[in-house]
Amino acid sequence: MKEYVRTIADYPVKGIQFRDITTLLQDAGHFKQVVDDMTTPWKNKKIDAVLSIESRGFIMAGAIAYFLNAAFIPLRKPHKLPFETYKVSYDLEYGSTEMHIHTDALDGHDDLLIIDDLLATGGTALAAVELIENFENKNIIGAGFIINLPDLNGDKKLKDKGINIHSLMEF
Ligand code: AMP
Repeated sequence: MKEYVRTIADYPVKGIQFRDITTLLQDAGHFKQVVDDMTTPWKNKKIDAVLSIESRGFIMAGAIAYFLNAAFIPLRKPHKLPFETYKVSYDLEYGSTEMHIHTDALDGHDDLLIIDDLLATGGTALAAVELIENFENKNIIGAGFIINLPDLNGDKKLKDKGINIHSLMEF
């Protein structure tokens, strides 16, 4: 499937090789395979909820949660969640932003899976981990991505936190 990811040089800023997944997901068979392959590693584990990062994570996470019989929890940008939230600020491969979760989002959910499209520096995934640390007695069973960029060391940072990583491909 790797050949269907389109690479755009210097987008959105100079020096970034942007990995565009729209060219992969616009094919029905590939979209199905992406969802199936991101679901498989967690099928025999107890997952109560899939936490997904706005906005590209949502594309796969809803379907993965459905297949795992798990809840879907959105992690969102500022001013999107209407109820009380916990928040964290974090740096991106380009720029910085904030991530929010509803304070009651994990009620009754202990075993959690994080899903996003791409793991680069790990800033985004670690922000999700930091948000989860606001809640007591939660277990992060793993984190799944379509793409891992190992040269940026996000995978090492997550593994250092004891988190299992799964990705479909690396660049
Ligand atoms: P990071 O926080 O550095 O691990 O970056 C991960 C997030 O930024 C993901 O949600 C991606 O959607 C986006 N991202 C970072 N780098 C790239 C890239 N080279 N190509 C496409 N998306 C990227």
